[in-house]
Amino acid sequence: MTDWVSQLADDVIAESERRAPGKTIVCASGLSPSGPIHLGNLREVMTPHLVADEIRRRGLDCVHLLSWDDYDRFRKVPAGIDPSWAEHIGKPLTSVPAPPGSAYPNWAEHFKTPMISALARLGVTYRGISQTKQYTSGAYREQILHAMRERDRIDAVLARYRTKAKPKAKDADEAAALEGSGAAEEEAGYYPYKPYCTLCGRDLTTVTGYDDETTELAYTCECGFGETVRLATHDRGKLVWKVDWPMRWAYEGVVFEPSGVDHTSPGSSFEVGGHLVGEIFDGVQPIGPRYAFVGISGMAKMSSSKGGVPTAADALEIMEAPLLRWMYARRKPAQSFKVAFDQEIQRLYDEWDALERKVSEGQALPADQLAHARAVRTAEQPLAATERRVPYRMLASIVDVTTGDEEQTLRILRELDPAAPITDLAQVRPRLDKAQRWVTTQVPAEQRTTVRPEPDEELLSSLDAEQRESLRLLLDGLDAHWSLDGLTDLVYGVPKRQAGLPADAKATPELKAAQREFFVLVYTLLVGRDTGPRLPTLLLAVGADRVRKLLGA
Ligand SMILES: [Zn+2]
Repeated sequence: MTDWVSQLADDVIAESERRAPGKTIVCASGLSPSGPIHLGNLREVMTPHLVADEIRRRGLDCVHLLSWDDYDRFRKVPAGIDPSWAEHIGKPLTSVPAPPGSAYPNWAEHFKTPMISALARLGVTYRGISQTKQYTSGAYREQILHAMRERDRIDAVLARYRTKAKPKAKDADEAAALEGSGAAEEEAGYYPYKPYCTLCGRDLTTVTGYDDETTELAYTCECGFGETVRLATHDRGKLVWKVDWPMRWAYEGVVFEPSGVDHTSPGSSFEVGGHLVGEIFDGVQPIGPRYAFVGISGMAKMSSSKGGVPTAADALEIMEAPLLRWMYARRKPAQSFKVAFDQEIQRLYDEWDALERKVSEGQALPADQLAHARAVRTAEQPLAATERRVPYRMLASIVDVTTGDEEQTLRILRELDPAAPITDLAQVRPRLDKAQRWVTTQVPAEQRTTVRPEPDEELLSSLDAEQRESLRLLLDGLDAHWSLDGLTDLVYGVPKRQAGLPADAKATPELKAAQREFFVLVYTLLVGRDTGPRLPTLLLAVGADRVRKLLGA
């Protein structure tokens, strides 16, 4: 039995055996806490997580390193943030104040913390590495001094990919953070290290000289400050990104690290890093697939207020962790997919429940069975699951009608299946809470269900004899059919009886039309629209007494 995860795990184990036999296998991810961490970036973590998890399931030692690129420069002030934050552009993300009103000490922590909490709920185990801590503690001292000694060779490698076009002035600082300042033609020369200015804290610095013997490094800053520091003891600066990444591959011995599709272009940091890691740092580039874009369908504006992008935490508000894991596990990294925030989530949950049934009956296809297994538990433990799997769409309908009233919700749930009644809301949690959150934050007001407070007397008095008869048949059968299955039989059966057909009659186009017409009548009388939650669910949710009143009994 195999799937893309086990195939990658095979590759990673074999590669690790070649490179470092018997050593702990290292998988890696990197995330930048420069803003809310988009669900698309969750793939950066989920791909190595699933592979590392598979390796651990096989009883091998495997660590998943998650680098927080929190020593990267603050690049721009996002929409919705006080424009005065522009004064912090060029500082490390951990030195920028958190957005106004935040409880966190700095910008990076503010965006890291919700992701850390979401990863915990997703069962992702990893070793987090703060690049701020690494750089400011001098962990990379040898690597930095080495890169400086090898600066001409690094410059030569980078030059193979450099385009003639010079970056525009406003992008120049960005480009310098990526590759380093001081192109070959400039007198000062190329340096792969960028100090953060001692005076203003920003990286608007230019290295003006470096002595390999003394490690004395001179720089000037756009703020007017300038000084000479000893790099052997200086811990306020970093290697430029294109050198930093391959340095860390070698430093950490990374065997597996995926990257986004944007890294496929010639001269990308992944490609350039592949040359630098071997030529400069005596390491080997990790193996790893390019992963495709993860999109979102229909996220309501209201919940995207925190920066306008959907995060893993947003998704976990409306869906259980195993479902979200499943989406990343069942698609190969090269396949893009969408995480549903709209009505599609109900269909997705139906698909998930159908898979669970197949798995429990031993009927699932091997790859589907594996994806399911990866979703519901990790090598360490099972994820929290809802005990009674009431369909999500049904829970959504119920909380829609009851507006979340717990007593009513429990009454309805108890009546769904009188043979095995749900007796406590805890049995349907956390799924119930996710459905409720979805209804209140994602379902547009015009799609919400409002039960009529009073009967529609005008409509009731205008009904013809056949319509009155259909309502009478429904009302007469209510008590005897008061369960989900019973009411389903009843509402489909009324038009059959009126047409003189037996209860097990096959649906013909005429019968379907008659059923639809009957349903529209009942919907209109109950909720004042011609559609709504599935009728049996709606009847249970409205309650027998109120149904009688609204249908004119
Ligand atoms: Zn400065």
